[in-house]
This record gives sequence, C-alpha cells and structure tokens, in this order.
Amino acid sequence: MYPRVIVNRKHVVHNVRTLKNLCAEHGIRIVGITKVFSGDPEIAKCYIEGGLEMIGDSRVENLKRLQDLSAEKWLIRPPMLSEVADLVAYADASLNSELEVIRAISDEVVKKGISESHKVILMADLGDIREGYVDYDELVEVAKEVESLPGVYLYGVGVNLTCFSFITPDESKMSDLALIRRRVEDAIGRKLDIVSGGNSGTLALMLEGGICDGVDSLRLGESLLFGKERRHYSYLPDTYKDTFKLECEIVELKHKPSLPWGNIGADSYGVVPTFTDRGNDRVKAICALGKQDFDPEICTPLDPGIIMLGASSDHLMLDVTDSDRDYKVGDIIELELGYFSVMRAFTSKYVEKVYI
Ligand SMILES: *Cc1c(COP(=O)(O)O)cnc(C)c1O
Repeated sequence: MYPRVIVNRKHVVHNVRTLKNLCAEHGIRIVGITKVFSGDPEIAKCYIEGGLEMIGDSRVENLKRLQDLSAEKWLIRPPMLSEVADLVAYADASLNSELEVIRAISDEVVKKGISESHKVILMADLGDIREGYVDYDELVEVAKEVESLPGVYLYGVGVNLTCFSFITPDESKMSDLALIRRRVEDAIGRKLDIVSGGNSGTLALMLEGGICDGVDSLRLGESLLFGKERRHYSYLPDTYKDTFKLECEIVELKHKPSLPWGNIGADSYGVVPTFTDRGNDRVKAICALGKQDFDPEICTPLDPGIIMLGASSDHLMLDVTDSDRDYKVGDIIELELGYFSVMRAFTSKYVEKVYI
C-alpha cells in the first residue's frame, strides 16, 4: 500500500550508538526523544538497543504506546492539568514550570497510592521564551516546595533552547544553568540527579567543549534519527541520514506547460504563488501524497533529476522531465524526509509504516 514510510532500524540503532559514545566522551547522558515518530514502539526499541535508558515524548498518548519498554519515560512538554492522571500512569518524570500542576501531580500520586514518586524537572527559560521560569528566585522557591511535597521527587533542572525564538546555546547559558543547579542544591541541601541542557541544538556546543561541569544530559531527537546537529545543520561523522524514506505512487503523468494559465488567485495561506518558467513542454507527474502526509518543504526526491513543484493536501506535483528514468503511471517515487516530514508521515493514518 502506498504511500508508505520505510524505517531503517539498523541505521537508527547505529546513529544512537554513535551519539551515545560521542556524548559519553563529554560526560553527557542522552534522553532519546520519540515525538518525531509518534512514539512508535518499533523505533523506540532501537533507542534501547542502541544503549539508551531514558526516553521522552511531548505527548502522554505516545508514552502510553511505550509502556512495555523498559526505560525511564519523560513527558517533555509541561503537563496539562487535565492529563495528570494519565501522566502519573505512563510517565516516570516530566518537565515542569507550574507549581499548580506539580501540586496536582503530587495529589494524584498520593491519591492513587503509587509507591514510586513522580520525578519533577524544573525548567528555566534562558531566553528562548518558550517553557520555564524567567525568575530564577521563583524557581528556587518552587524547588523548595517540590522537595517538601509527597508523591513527587525533585529530579533536576533543565532548559530548552532553539525551539521557538531559536536562541542558540552558548557557554554562558550553560553556566547560567549550572549556577541555577547550584542555587537549588544549596536551597534543598542535596545534589540534584540530572541537569538537562537542551536538545539537538546543544550538540555543536558540546563538541566544541562548551558545556561546563554541572550540565550532564541532553534530550535528543533529530540528531539520533538524522545524525544532524542544529547549529550548522551539518551531519555528524559515522551517522546515517537515510533512516526514513517515503514512497509514493504516480497517478498522473502528462506533458504540460511549466506556467499555469488564467488569473492567479491566493493560495490557502492567502499568498499568491509564483512559478518558474521552464518552457511549454515539461513532463509532470502527480503522486498520491499530500500535505496531510508529509511536508514538501522538508523532503528531497532521491532521483536528482526530479524537481519538486509543490503539494496540495492530497497531490504532490513533480517535474520529471530531466530525470534519466522513463517514468510511467504506477511507478514509485522515493523521497528522503526531514524532521517535520517524518512527524507528519507518522501522524498520518494514510501512510503505511514499514520497518526494515
Ligand atoms: C522536541 C524536544 C526535544 C528534542 O529536540 P530535537 O531537536 O529533536 O533534539 C527536546 N526537548 C524538548 C523540550 C522538546 O520539545
């Protein structure tokens, strides 16, 4: 059945091993992030096989899919008050920035009589203006209260960068985080277990030796799956970038002009599209695949002779004129996928998942 996404499990395992060794050299542990593939257990297992002991996802539903995996599970988005019951059932730890929610978690663990405390990681916002405390005095006060609450355990502190404002991690941000760690430890009178220094965006800094003592872990998704770090968008040595491939089928193939004719209106985003003139006779293929299933902006045809023209919700338009291959209706086109394309392919129920 098409479209389908092919997952190369061996390549995922290989990337995980490579990254694990690389991070270990810098004293960094990895929490493997599974949200890109909707917490698919077949792929999450590759994280475990590659040697990871902690995994994280931004959705409790995805953690639920992973309940049989033996790994510590983190919710990496601040939990909703309305999902606290599921949270304590399926997550061992969560990233938090609201005391009200942490109190609700504490109540829930006590009410259910769960023996193991839920681990709380308090987030500091160091400039990205996404989740976390900007008032670090407040963070320290909250830490003291968490320490005194039943049913929750203050596990550590963390930061997230390069996600909303695309503020890049640097040495001073890492030492700010290490300082927050020290302040919390002084306030509660014991060591914290974990200090989580960010996502794949922090890897480049780590490789430059820019992560100070006191920051001991990273939450990695993109770099494990694509072997890619975010600072220079470069591929890391000894990693595979072809872990995911999307296959779709040609449903129409015709000679058509490169330019549309008639009056051009605005697209569904309110933007008037523009087109490149490549002449009046091009071979155009339509594939049965759309924006519901992938992101045309973050994907590349494996055949270098194919030009991606764009996609609507259910049609992918390609110019195959310059290809060495002689395509016909029913042929399969292969696409290499980037981050958000993989995310959509796994979210789409129309895309079959195949594991090799
Ligand atoms: C998505 C996410 C990650 C993983 O990001 P990558 O860029 O895929 O490594 C880590 N932490 C948080 C809070 C996230 O939302």
